[in-house]
Amino acid sequence: MKILVSACLLGIRCRYDGSSARSEDLSILTDETVFIPVCPEQLGGLPTPRCPAAIAGGDGGDVLDGRVQVLTEDGGDVTARFLRGAGEVARIASMMNISTAIMKEKSPSCGVFSIKRTKIPADGMGVTSALLTRKGIHVISSDNIIDEYVRHYRHRK
Ligand code: SF4
Repeated sequence: MKILVSACLLGIRCRYDGSSARSEDLSILTDETVFIPVCPEQLGGLPTPRCPAAIAGGDGGDVLDGRVQVLTEDGGDVTARFLRGAGEVARIASMMNISTAIMKEKSPSCGVFSIKRTKIPADGMGVTSALLTRKGIHVISSDNIIDEYVRHYRHRK
């Protein structure tokens, strides 16, 4: 089974500060899955390291619908980069016939249940996770890998 994964969860140093967010929980899946790593912020054309960004109200769905912007801490508007990155990830998912994604929680791009909204944590999906969900892809939170993966897939074997 092929699964799209936020690249930082696999140990790739693509976070805003040049670090990774390696998840040991993914190791339970390695014998049965092929991971397709993606970093929507890099795919959107942003550099690493980069100024941290946050959704300026609402959530990723509101960004997709053009209602709110994504702004960096120094006030730059990176909305177009976030939308481009989300679109590229969705294109990869379509090319690879992906039906499941595991995405990094608490990110304005990849968050599933929580995002960073102008310096404070908030409920909601990031821009890329919102787009993948709209495309019918099952998006699993990095905070819930073992429980959700096992619940949805292991029992089918
Ligand atoms: S955009 Fe997603 S994959 Fe890239 S560093 Fe942030 S959380 Fe990780």
